[in-house]
Amino acid sequence: MDECIPKTMRADVFRSGRPERPEPWQMTERKLNYSVDSFEGMMLNENLLRGIFAYGFEKPSAIQQQAIVPCIKGFDVIAQSQSGTGKTATYVIAALQRIDMMKEDTQAIILAPTRELANQIQKVVLSLGDYMGVRCHACIGGTSIHEDMENLRSANPHVMVGTPGRVFDVLARRAVSAKAIRLLVLDEADQMLGNGFKDQIHEIFCKLPTNVQAILLSATMPAHVLEATKMFMQDPVKILIKREELTMEGIQQFYIKTETEEKKLESLCGLYSTLTITQAVIFVNTRKKAEWLTQELMSKDFTVSVLHSEMGQSERDTTMKEFRSGSSRVFITTDLLSRGIDVQQVSLVINFDLPTKLESYIHRIGRSGRFGRGGVAINMVTEESQPMLAIIQNFYDFKIKELPANMVDIV
Ligand code: ADP
Repeated sequence: MDECIPKTMRADVFRSGRPERPEPWQMTERKLNYSVDSFEGMMLNENLLRGIFAYGFEKPSAIQQQAIVPCIKGFDVIAQSQSGTGKTATYVIAALQRIDMMKEDTQAIILAPTRELANQIQKVVLSLGDYMGVRCHACIGGTSIHEDMENLRSANPHVMVGTPGRVFDVLARRAVSAKAIRLLVLDEADQMLGNGFKDQIHEIFCKLPTNVQAILLSATMPAHVLEATKMFMQDPVKILIKREELTMEGIQQFYIKTETEEKKLESLCGLYSTLTITQAVIFVNTRKKAEWLTQELMSKDFTVSVLHSEMGQSERDTTMKEFRSGSSRVFITTDLLSRGIDVQQVSLVINFDLPTKLESYIHRIGRSGRFGRGGVAINMVTEESQPMLAIIQNFYDFKIKELPANMVDIV
């Protein structure tokens, strides 16, 4: 195993001409605009292209047009793009193109902050890579490590998706060899490089070959995170958007004023009696509140699913299934599920509590309005939380309007 030194100090290794890295002369290429506006124009493997079209994609989204090609060329890439714009397919297509199907080894690792997201990503890898015959295993915490290692060994995957703790464990226990890994993807990179996972990511990185390519993606990319990427990246191609350009186009944002915390429940029920709501995600700030709200709504005959971190894995899986299938129409959760989860029919996000972290706001409301579909976000605001609403509007430079009384059809 190579000594774990920052990638910026590993330049000599790159320049020694590892085949899958760009040669130094190619570095000038990065000045070119890589934007390619069709999947056919990206020179993708034929079976991958078939998989993309079979999945129903016709044309790449803006982030896919800009980021897939530099990823395929082997550059380290930092890609920021709003929620629901197709970041998952961006790195999945790149990973699938980078894999050598003639080799049996695991060649790409995709890390995500939650088990639900890791499961969702695994499905996208398997679908887009279906015609290639790709093998992909999800290593997620909350299941037995021994069972997971057994499954991993028998799956012998080309791509491994997982949460950081479990992926580190399987690498440390050598259930999978790191030697052929050429690509590391961090989805929701700002969260992954934030306090919770940073050390684990570092430890994983240290187990990988020195020339491993890194791709980082998120809707939010604060400056301190960009600083932290230096450990993983060498002169990355950066596709960034300014905070004030995070317009959340297509998502109408409203607030409802209630006098007190206690009156919020009444307002929420009022909303349900006046609006036509297909499926909604309701965010609260604590597990206790999630449980309380679930009980209250169930006693009023709503079909509710609740998901928070204290629940067991099988319960979490059942809840996600119920919600995806549409059998429950109200989904109550904490910030645990504010990121990445893609349920296309969600048209409404309700912040029963305003988030305490500014970046959570963008991730939460991004659960609606997936891939250009219309969406609505409603914030329930009390006297006490009004300043936070002002801070959010200021920070992102957008306007959140009061919900009009005559609004009946939400999207
Ligand atoms: P993000 O990671 O940016 O939040 P996702 O990757 O989850 O967004 O994509 C959001 C939705 O858009 C998903 O349902 C996905 O299947 C769909 N999607 C992604 N790319 C395309 C495309 N090129 N054409 C049509 N739909 C797409």
